[in-house]
Amino acid sequence: MNYLHLNGLHHSRQPLAASLPPTNIHPVSAFTLKYVPHPFPTRRAKNPFGELSIIDRIKARAPTSSAVRLGIGDDCAILKPPPGHELLVTTDFCLEERHFRRAWHTPASIGHRTLARGLSDLAAMGAKPLAAFLSLAMPPDVARNPRFLDGLLDGLLALAAAHSVPLAGGDTAQAPADQILADIVLLGSAPTGRALRRSTARPGDLLYVTGALGGAAAELTALSANPRKFRTTNAADNHPHLFPQPRLAVGQALLRRLLATACIDLSDGLSTDLAHLCTASHVAAELDLAQLPLHPLAAALDDRAQINALLHGGEDYELLFTASPSTKIPRSIAGVPITQIGRILKSRVNKPQMSILSDSYRYELQPHGWEHFA
Ligand code: ADP
Ligand code: MG
Repeated sequence: MNYLHLNGLHHSRQPLAASLPPTNIHPVSAFTLKYVPHPFPTRRAKNPFGELSIIDRIKARAPTSSAVRLGIGDDCAILKPPPGHELLVTTDFCLEERHFRRAWHTPASIGHRTLARGLSDLAAMGAKPLAAFLSLAMPPDVARNPRFLDGLLDGLLALAAAHSVPLAGGDTAQAPADQILADIVLLGSAPTGRALRRSTARPGDLLYVTGALGGAAAELTALSANPRKFRTTNAADNHPHLFPQPRLAVGQALLRRLLATACIDLSDGLSTDLAHLCTASHVAAELDLAQLPLHPLAAALDDRAQINALLHGGEDYELLFTASPSTKIPRSIAGVPITQIGRILKSRVNKPQMSILSDSYRYELQPHGWEHFA
């Protein structure tokens, strides 16, 4: 379905047959009566800028692992999940102008962010990454210039190496318009029946967050004001928007050490993701404003912008999790600070799903993070 959509052949969710012009011919034979040539070449001879050389370029650099029995090069990859584990699958689009801008994000940042989004979903469920699949559509001028692909791979593969994630396949196509599309699919594994979920929080549980909040929103504000200042940044420095660090080790420790009752990653912002957790778990929650850990980059913002960054800033890719009050949660896990920020309550009719406590006042909290199609 995605492939049809990307080629501009099909823009609705209707099945393809339903979008054909009305005809009294039986739909099965409609295709045999009129041959419609495919508008784009599907397979090209090997040329220096073609699909095959792009795949070769990716394959030459792709890390492998023993879990990948067969990687890039055949029709399918073959994976071997560890015994006693089940598979977890997540997929995320990175679309130019929606998730990144070429004027703001370097190719390395685009590559890093593409993989980080998928890894963060695995982290939220306590999974170990098994393999990544990267589907790329590039406009012709971008595909012709190897600097973009090489830069994207620099960012993506550095993060993959840091978490030992093999790149086991993907797809490559010419973009139908002047926009880059990158889609990442990640497979992970977790001991059967043990993956963390967002639907299992219980009233009385305490609410915790990893790391700090609002850093990505603060960096995005600074980036939009002066993109040139950020052209030379790299993942080694602290760049929560350009190079977010997915919390895989924390998620795996929460699962392994039976610490969390529920978990979600903060991709859309605390207020939105907490609402997702509450809805899925049929519970309510309250936050202590003074306990929310403010990222140092957000400290420079004025008070109102700080609160916005804390509560609604998206893309921090921290983990929000719940734990029973009888479980001792360490101050840090895998070097990442952990902060208690509130508690889970019973859901009640006529009471807000989320509230926030500040100076002994209680405010209703609405989800105002990043929402597509809002
Ligand atoms: P097919 O036409 O059989 O789907 P492709 O020619 O698209 O195969 O891909 C050939 C091999 O290259 C496959 O193993 C596929 O997974 C891999 N591949 C294609 N594009 C990418 C990419 N962008 N990143 C990683 N692997 C890729
Ligand atoms: Mg094939």
